[in-house]
Amino acid sequence: MGDPKGFLKTGREGAERRPVEERVHDWNEVYPDGVGRALLPIISPQAGRCMDCGIPFCHQGCPLGNLIPEWNDLVWRDDWAGAIERLHATNNFPEFTGRLCPAPCETSCVLGINQDPVTIKNVEVSIIDRAWESNLVRPQPPEWLSGRTVAVVGSGPAGLAAAQQLTRAGHTVVVLERADEVGGLMRYGIPEFKMEKKHLDRRLDQMRREGTVFRTGVEVGRDLSVESLRDRYDAVVLAMGSTVPRDLQTEGRELDGLHQAMDFLPQANRAALGHPVEDQVTAEGLDVVIIGGGDTGADCLGTSTRQGAASITQLEIMPEPRARAPRASRGRPTR
Ligand code: SF4
Repeated sequence: MGDPKGFLKTGREGAERRPVEERVHDWNEVYPDGVGRALLPIISPQAGRCMDCGIPFCHQGCPLGNLIPEWNDLVWRDDWAGAIERLHATNNFPEFTGRLCPAPCETSCVLGINQDPVTIKNVEVSIIDRAWESNLVRPQPPEWLSGRTVAVVGSGPAGLAAAQQLTRAGHTVVVLERADEVGGLMRYGIPEFKMEKKHLDRRLDQMRREGTVFRTGVEVGRDLSVESLRDRYDAVVLAMGSTVPRDLQTEGRELDGLHQAMDFLPQANRAALGHPVEDQVTAEGLDVVIIGGGDTGADCLGTSTRQGAASITQLEIMPEPRARAPRASRGRPTR
């Protein structure tokens, strides 16, 4: 525990975002110069708010089991090399989670019982952004090859993490992706204003230098049978996501003008990246209703705004849209 009184004397603080009037006119991330750099002036005292709890509920809240109090302490002590080593110990891609994760660790933070929780997600993204800038993230090619081959089906975060670990362990790994570019939902599902694709491309470059091979435009089950994969590779990792949406069971669902987010967002993201899109559905000039207030609803909200919707109404069964309620629970830590 770096600062025993940190949580008593320092309040929770986040980075300044770009003005709304400015950022709704472009697709860039909402922080000036990137969130990691925006956070640097404030992040050490924020990390110093961590109490290094005897039973750190943040560990249980984090699906990756991130070693949160350890890297909070290292950041407070200005040991950024140590912090990225501890962060990478459980997380291959903290630049993705530090931007995209809904941060259940913060909801679980013990400090949240009677104060605002530690800004864990901000500390995480600061560590990795600074590590990239300081050349602390380098390719780690294997020292020897096992002679074994592995096919990883799907290039979302799970597929990429599996591929990176297997490549570093010395196996010859091929990642198969049905879309025209690698990244799964991170490529075409997540808007630029949430995570610019340069972060994904930088990590893919590291993986290629380590020896991972990527094949795009290959749909397993259509272009390539599972049997042929099993014949050609020693092991197959299935890491596909699902693009099948949950449908709305209600009268009028068949009417025109109702679109699933997973049809709307990929088109919008492709267009924002300058790719040609046929028959694009756009919110420009329309009165838009978004059903759902989670992350995907928030992505649709930001995208519709930037496309020039005439009005936007977001419907959510919770009292407040979840995507706009980042304050953690003040009740018992949740898992
Ligand atoms: S629960 Fe919160 S205060 Fe406790 S160790 Fe984790 S981040 Fe620090």
